[in-house]
Amino acid sequence: MNRRKFIKDASLAGIAVTSTVTVAACASESEKKPEIAATVNVDPVRPLVIATWDVKKSTAKAWEVLYQGGSSLDAVEQGVMVEEADPNSMSVGKGGLPDRDGNVTLDACIMDKHGNCGAVVYLKNVTHAISVARKVMEDTPHVMLAGDGAEMFAYKKGFQKENLLTEKSKKAWEEWKVESKYKPIINIENHDTIGMLAIDKNGDLAGACTTSGLAYKMAGRVGDSPIIGSGLFVDNEIGAAVATGLGEEVVKTVGSFLVVELMRQGKSPQEACEEAIKRIVNKPNSNYKDFQVGYIALNKNGETGAYSIHEHFSVTKHQANSNENIKSSFFNKG
Ligand code: ASP
Repeated sequence: MNRRKFIKDASLAGIAVTSTVTVAACASESEKKPEIAATVNVDPVRPLVIATWDVKKSTAKAWEVLYQGGSSLDAVEQGVMVEEADPNSMSVGKGGLPDRDGNVTLDACIMDKHGNCGAVVYLKNVTHAISVARKVMEDTPHVMLAGDGAEMFAYKKGFQKENLLTEKSKKAWEEWKVESKYKPIINIENHDTIGMLAIDKNGDLAGACTTSGLAYKMAGRVGDSPIIGSGLFVDNEIGAAVATGLGEEVVKTVGSFLVVELMRQGKSPQEACEEAIKRIVNKPNSNYKDFQVGYIALNKNGETGAYSIHEHFSVTKHQANSNENIKSSFFNKG
């Protein structure tokens, strides 16, 4: 076996780079038993989870699943569910900002290590769009369900009907209606899709993406987030990518698939995210100064990348015992 192959195999098997770190168990000081507080070996590379924006509670939840030996698929689902359930998070799930008619409509998709995927679009009255997307993947012969069909399917699967329009979102919508001007605002609540990518202890990848879409969108509008290849793509041989920002621009360049394909050609996750952003901004007549797009990516070796058009995009990364929000580098330096 040559050295290059050995390093690759060893790193994929997680055996070459194991270091010793102290794991802060969830128990309080007084509850800690010696065996719980023990210093254990944690691979500094994996498991690993990254997500768009500052969502440390979500990445902590996902990492808990991974640390306990759970799959990357369970981790990303349970991770993004934290944001979906938070009524104060105005860009996903309950409390998401509505369309211009006052309806909160959710888009989500999920993809596993086998290349299976499921998605829901224009889903109303159900908080956990990501879990409905997973049921589409696992319990139907289809990839995507939309609107009433998705909602009826969710109820059949035991999801509860809920009012997703919180007082806070309703108030924001009523204030918006006074002028009814539709212009996406860079990095403000309407660009906060939660995309999450994880690699588990077996080295398997999965990803999830969930959003209420652009605030005050036209009724029926669907963006990139539930579209496999645009909002999210996972190839367990290579890596995974997920997008946030103005969905129309991501769809036009099939952004997440592009990032994964660039990694397949040998680019690092960082280089791949940068190249995919350049595809958007370098288009003739691109009006990129008016909108934001951001990508994050993870490859099979646990390397990560993030890049956006404008400043203030960020990625949250949970690896070993660090859960950190990191500023993304960006294209438009003004
Ligand atoms: N990508 C989402 C969409 O276009 C919105 C966002 O990320 O803010 O629906």
